[in-house]
Amino acid sequence: MSIRTLQQIIPAIATSDGGGVKLRRSLGQKQALRVDPFLMLDEFSSEHADDYIAGFPDHPHRGFETVTYMLEGHMLHQDHLGNRGDLKSGGAQWMTAGRGIIHSEMPQQESGRMRGFQLWVNLPAKEKMKPAGYQDVRPEEIPLQKLPGGGQVKIIAGIADIAGNPIAGPIQGISTEVLFLDVRLPAGETFNLAITKDHNAFVYPYEGTLAIGPAANRHILASHSAGVLSDGDRIEILAEEHAAAFLLLAGRPLGEPIAQYGPFVMNTREEIEQAMADYRNGQLV
Ligand code: MN
Repeated sequence: MSIRTLQQIIPAIATSDGGGVKLRRSLGQKQALRVDPFLMLDEFSSEHADDYIAGFPDHPHRGFETVTYMLEGHMLHQDHLGNRGDLKSGGAQWMTAGRGIIHSEMPQQESGRMRGFQLWVNLPAKEKMKPAGYQDVRPEEIPLQKLPGGGQVKIIAGIADIAGNPIAGPIQGISTEVLFLDVRLPAGETFNLAITKDHNAFVYPYEGTLAIGPAANRHILASHSAGVLSDGDRIEILAEEHAAAFLLLAGRPLGEPIAQYGPFVMNTREEIEQAMADYRNGQLV
C-alpha cells in the first residue's frame, strides 16, 4: 500500500474570462499546467455583482467536457439547440461538448455571493466528435456522506469507497473514470480514501490549509492552489489547526497529444484548424 504525496503545487492566478468574470485559475493557466485528463480548473467567488454579472455570453466548445459545480448562486445555461439548464446552489452540470456546442452561461442573480467552479476534462480522440450532451445534477441528487470526525463528503462523480462503504455519485460512465469529490473537514481531522492506482489526482482547497501525505512525508497546501499528487493507492489529507474544504479530482490519464486553441481541444493542429473553419462556416455543431 502506498500513500500519495504532494508532488507539485499550482497556485491559482487571478484572471478574468467570458464577459469579464473575475476568477482564479489553477490548472490551465499555462498549457504545461494540466493534469491529464484535466485541462483547466477555474474558481469564481465574489459578493460583488460587477465581478460576475456579465457572465459567459455565447461561445463555442469542441473536443472535451466542461463541469460546472455551484456552491452558491444561480447560473442559467442555454445552447444553440434550445436546451436550458438552471444551475442552483449545490448543483452541477456535466456538459460533453463533443463535436460542438455554442452556449451561454449567465448568472441569474443580481446581488449576493456567487461561488463555484468550472473544470475542463479532456475526451479521448475517439470521442471528440461525438454529439454534444448534458447531465444536469440537482443538489439533492448529490450524495452527502458524514465522516466519523465531523467532516462530510459530497460525491459528484465516480464512486468513493469511504470506510468500506462504496457510494456512487450521480455522474457515472465517463470514459476517463473521473472521481469528483467536495470534502469538508473540521480542524484536526484526516480524510482517508482509496484512489485507483495509475489515475492522476489533484486536490484544490478553497477554504483553509491542508497537510497532504503520510505522517512521515506530509506537505502543506495553501488554499486556492491545486496540489498534484504522486501515484499511489490511497490519500491521507489532514486539516491541521483550522477547518478546511477542498475538491478532490482523480481520473484515468489519456496519454494522447493535445492541441488547444482557446475553447477547442483536439489532438492535432489540423483538427484545430478544422474546428475554427467549422465555427466560421456555421458547421461546428
Ligand atoms: Mn462554456
